[in-house]
Amino acid sequence: MENCIFCKIIKGELPSHKVYEDENTLAFLDIRPNNPGHTLVVPKDHFENIYTTPDETLARTILSAKKVAVAIKNSLDADGINIGMNNEEAAGQVIFHTHIHIIPRYKTDGFKHWPQKEYKEGEAETIAEKIKNELGE
Ligand code: 5GP
Ligand code: ZN
Repeated sequence: MENCIFCKIIKGELPSHKVYEDENTLAFLDIRPNNPGHTLVVPKDHFENIYTTPDETLARTILSAKKVAVAIKNSLDADGINIGMNNEEAAGQVIFHTHIHIIPRYKTDGFKHWPQKEYKEGEAETIAEKIKNELGE
């Protein structure tokens, strides 16, 4: 993809702080970290998001993410690790090349967790049915 920043990082056309690389995946520091050590793991092939990334590519990417997550936890003394992925603009995706965020967390970092809601009476059943039907369950 010609104008993809992450493809340019993969090809070495843009600088980055790489922390891990194998045949199919690359991990490098996020330029604006939530906490120092915040790392992005990407497949070397360009896919836009989780929906269009082939299973095997996604599997390799999450396995690299696991490896990097353990290394971040151990080397930076993280108390925990958030692993996340934004898919589509509404979910906060800004770079449209599949990537997994690995964010070291500390008891003292002061971040709030996602706000939680309550289901209305009967709503959870309806929602679960919709998802199950789509999955053919
Ligand atoms: P998204 O919101 O798409 O899930 O996350 C994109 C991430 O890429 C952001 O956290 C942002 O800080 C990071 N980012 C954007 N441009 C660059 C760049 O040129 N280099 C690096 N290393 N990270 C970038
Ligand atoms: Zn790309």
